[in-house]
Amino acid sequence: MDHKPALLSESELIEVFNYTKTATAVHIGEEAIIQMANDAMLQIWGKDRSVIGKSLGDALPELVGQPFIEMFARVWRDGLTLSGSDTPADLEVDGEVKTYYFNFEYRAIKNAEGQTICVLHTAVDVTEQVVNRQALEKAYLQEQLLIREQAINEELASANEELNAINEELAQSQEELVSTNEQLEKRIQNRVRELYQSELKFRALSDELAAINEEMTASNEELMASNEELLVAQERLQITFEHLEDREIALRLAIEAANFGTWHIHSVTRKFITSARLKELFGFYEYEDVTIEDALAQVTDEYRPYVAEKLESVLSGDGNYDVTYPVIGFHDQKLRWLRAMGNLKSDKSGEFSSFTGVVMDISELKKDDERKNDFIGMVSHELKTPLTSLNGYIQILQLSAKKADNPFMISALDKANKQVRKMTSMINGFLNISRLESGKIVLNKSAFRLDELLESVIEEASLLDASHHISYADPVQIEIYADQDKIANVISNLLSNAVKYSPENKDIQVRSVFVNGTVQISVTDYGMGIQASDIEKLFERYYRVENNNTISGFGIGLYLSAEIIARHNGKIWVESQLNEGSTFYFTLPLNT
Ligand code: ADP
Repeated sequence: MDHKPALLSESELIEVFNYTKTATAVHIGEEAIIQMANDAMLQIWGKDRSVIGKSLGDALPELVGQPFIEMFARVWRDGLTLSGSDTPADLEVDGEVKTYYFNFEYRAIKNAEGQTICVLHTAVDVTEQVVNRQALEKAYLQEQLLIREQAINEELASANEELNAINEELAQSQEELVSTNEQLEKRIQNRVRELYQSELKFRALSDELAAINEEMTASNEELMASNEELLVAQERLQITFEHLEDREIALRLAIEAANFGTWHIHSVTRKFITSARLKELFGFYEYEDVTIEDALAQVTDEYRPYVAEKLESVLSGDGNYDVTYPVIGFHDQKLRWLRAMGNLKSDKSGEFSSFTGVVMDISELKKDDERKNDFIGMVSHELKTPLTSLNGYIQILQLSAKKADNPFMISALDKANKQVRKMTSMINGFLNISRLESGKIVLNKSAFRLDELLESVIEEASLLDASHHISYADPVQIEIYADQDKIANVISNLLSNAVKYSPENKDIQVRSVFVNGTVQISVTDYGMGIQASDIEKLFERYYRVENNNTISGFGIGLYLSAEIIARHNGKIWVESQLNEGSTFYFTLPLNT
C-alpha cells in the first residue's frame, strides 16, 4: 500500500490538529479572528465550531475586561511571542463563569517578509494542578499557621502564666505595699500624735512655767508688801500692846476702885484663879486656896442649885452669866448679896475656854431694895384695911339701893365697886411683889379643875369690863395640882392686859390645849401688839413699853406672872405683831 504523499487540505490539517492534546487555535488580525481551533481549544472555551470566523471578543465576550484580547492585538501588531504559565482566566463554560489556569503561548507566525500572517495560540489547562497546588499551599500555610498559632498560643499561655505570676507578685507586693503603707501611716500618725502630745505638754509646761513665774513674781511682790505690812502691823501691835497695858492698868484700877472681885476658870481643868477681893467676898483669907466647890459651898442653900446650874451651863457654852445670890462668909459668917457677871471665851486652839468675870458686893443695894419692898408691903397692907371696909360699905349701900329700887344709885355703886376691885388688885400686886422680893411668897398647892378656874376668872373679868368680848372655846377638862389663887392671878393679869392694850369691842380669845405633857393656856388680843425689842424685857420687874404712859400700870403684872409660872416649873412667853395683836402663852406641867 504504497501511496504518494500529497499535501493535506486545510480541513485535513485541521483534522490533524484535532488530535493534538494541546489546545491549539489560529487567529488572524488585530481582533484575533478565529481561523482555526481544535477540539481541545473548543473544550477549554466551552464552545462549539460556531465560534470559527468570529473575533475572540465576540466568541468569548467574558474575556472583555481581561488582558488577553489586548495581548493578541499586541502580538499581531508587534510580531511578538507572549506566554504565561499558571495564568488565570475567567471563562464561561456551560453557562457558568469560572476561573481556569493555563500555560499558554501567543506566537506571531511571520512570512518571509517578516509580516505577521497569523497568531498561533496554544494552551494547556493546568487548572487542576494549580488548584491542587494552591490547595496544598493553602493546607501547608494553614498548617504553618496552625503551628504558628499554637506556638503563639503556647507563648501566650506561658506569657499569661508569667503575667499571672507577675500579677500575683504585684498583688502581693501591692498588699505588702498597702500594709507597709498602713504601718508607715500608723507609725507616722503615732509619731505625729506623740509629737503633738509632746508639744501640748511642752506648751502646758511652758504655760505653767510662765504662770509659776508670774505667781512667783507676784508672790515675791506680795511677800515684800506683806513684809512691809508686817512691819507696820508690828509697830501697831507694839502700840496696841502699850494701849492694852495702859487699859489693863486702868481696868485693874477701876476694879480695885469698885472693889470688884475677879475670877478665871479653865473650862477643862476647872482651875479657879481668883483675886484677893473675891476670896474676901466669900469669907476666905487671901492666902487660902479656893476651889469652885469651896466658893459654891458659901452660897445659901436656897440659891446654890441655881448658881451651880448657871455656872455649868455657861461653861458648856450656853447663855450669859449674870447672877445675883446671897453668900455666907466662910470665916466671918457674914451674909453678903453678890452679883457676878462673866464671859466665856474659847481659846484659839479650840480645846478649852476661859470663863472670866467680876463679882461685886450689892448687899447695900439689896438692903435698899428690901427697905423699899418693906415700905411697899407696909403701905399696901395699910391701904388694904380701909379698902376692905370701903368695899363692905359699898356692898351694904348696893343692897339698900336695890331695895329702894334706885337705878342711879345702883349704877353709881356698881362703878364704885369696880374701881375698888381695880384698886384691890393693884394693891395685891404690890403686896405680892414685896412678898416675892423678900422671899415670903410660898406656893399653896391644891388640886382643882383648870377649866372651872378659867371660866370663873373670865366671868370676873367680863364683869369688870363689858367693852370686850372674851371667848373661851373647847376648854380642856383637866384637874391640876397648883396654887389656885396665884394661877388665877396670872390669868387675870393676862386678861386685864389684853383689855388694857386693845381697843374697845375687840375680841379676846382664851384657849387651853395639851402640849407635850403640859397644859398650855393662851390669851389672844387684837390690839396694839409689842415690838420685838420690847418682848424680851416684858417680864422684867417694873418694865413698861415706853409709849404706853397714857395707859395706867406699874409694870409688875407680867413680872409677877413669870415668877409664879417659874415656881410651878412652867413656861411663859409672848408672840406678837405690832399693831395686829398679841398672844400670851403659859404652860403648867400635868404631873405637879
Ligand atoms: P402694866 O401694869 O404696865 O400693864 P405688865 O407687867 O402687865 O405691866 O406689862 C408690862 C408691859 O407690857 C406693859 O406696860 C405693856 O407695855 C406691855 N403689855 C403687856 N400686855 C400687853 C398686851 N396684851 N398688848 C400690848 N402690850 C402689852
